[in-house]
Amino acid sequence: MTKNGEQALIQVNDLKKIFGENEVLKGINGNIQTGQVICVIGPSGSGKSTFLRCLNMLEQPTSGQIIFDGKDLTKFTHKEVATLGERIGMVFQSFNLFPNMTVLDNMKLAPKKVKHMMDQEATEVSLKLLDRVGLKEKANVYPSSLSGGQAQRVAMARALAMNPQVMLFDEPTSALDPEMVGEVLEVMQELANEGMTMVVVTHEMGFAKKVADEVWFMADGYIQEKNTPDQLFDHPENERTKEFINKII
Ligand code: ADP
Ligand code: MG
Repeated sequence: MTKNGEQALIQVNDLKKIFGENEVLKGINGNIQTGQVICVIGPSGSGKSTFLRCLNMLEQPTSGQIIFDGKDLTKFTHKEVATLGERIGMVFQSFNLFPNMTVLDNMKLAPKKVKHMMDQEATEVSLKLLDRVGLKEKANVYPSSLSGGQAQRVAMARALAMNPQVMLFDEPTSALDPEMVGEVLEVMQELANEGMTMVVVTHEMGFAKKVADEVWFMADGYIQEKNTPDQLFDHPENERTKEFINKII
């Protein structure tokens, strides 16, 4: 529960993930409210991707709870987990578009297959979203002819076509040439402005400062510090956070 008694959209309780001997997440706690933008930062290898992947059950947590919309995802059956893609969208560092399908067919695939949307409706929804990310004219091309920035915008539109309740982003701009980072961050900012709930793992501190409601600093298996971007970047409290911030700024 939050201060005003509302239930968080996602509540993470003592989440642990162990790979063999490697205890990657040692007890993550946090609440994500509807409409909030959370940016997760931290050193490479600290478990940021693992955390995101646990949030949508791409990775089975070792223990702990992920309460999403009142239900504990860690208790879900395989069948229930398979339906999570409709409600939790994810955008990866590498765009993961199917190379043998046009942009439009990439977009339509999940809405048709998972949501059983009719072809015409799937086309309409997809074209509207492509327009929104500025790529309507690319509907009939293959992903190989897109720039990295365009491919990532298509990947975002594709995730949005499922009308998810929350969007997870795992370093969406890390694989991009620098001149393409801006166009992708811009779409993300618009999405945030429209009220989308977002969890964004990023090294783009400028974006985090501008867009995040909260920044979570992850290191050594824990969220070491959670705060507003102003506080976390300008007045970090935790020693580990200070060290990291000093290195990157
Ligand atoms: P980050 O995204 O912060 O760079 P990751 O979550 O990718 O960190 O990785 C954290 C640690 O978990 C690393 O030591 C990595 O080797 C390990 N790890 C991640 N995924 C797997 C996996 N599927 N199997 C075994 N180890 C993994
Ligand atoms: Mg990662």
